[in-house]
Amino acid sequence: MLPGMTGLARAILLLCPNCGKGRVMASWFRIRAGCPACGLRLERDEENEYWLGAYTLNFIVTEVVFAAGLLVVLVLTWPDPPWTAILWGGGAQMILTPIVFYPFSKALWLAIDLMFRPPTPEDFASSSDTCR
Ligand SMILES: [Zn+2]
Repeated sequence: MLPGMTGLARAILLLCPNCGKGRVMASWFRIRAGCPACGLRLERDEENEYWLGAYTLNFIVTEVVFAAGLLVVLVLTWPDPPWTAILWGGGAQMILTPIVFYPFSKALWLAIDLMFRPPTPEDFASSSDTCR
């Protein structure tokens, strides 16, 4: 497997990209402060907007899912596409996709960040605050 692909595969399973053992999410919308297995601090850069990449990733996935769905519907129903259904279905998809993809966007962003900035000793928090 290519370097970093293991981390991405672990992130898709919502496991720590670093060790593959700890679950990164405390709930669907709340990421843990640190990995319960290896202690990796999951918010690696608190001063900058660390999760901006995850939000961007979530936005891109939402738009790509919409574009792919629109293309499929247009191809299947041309020359008489159901425009009202496309409007409402597209609106519902735009609301639901980011909610469903939310934890995956954070875990994948963490895996991508770890590919470009491998963990350093500072990334491993003390065990006292791994389950905030
Ligand atoms: Zn870990």
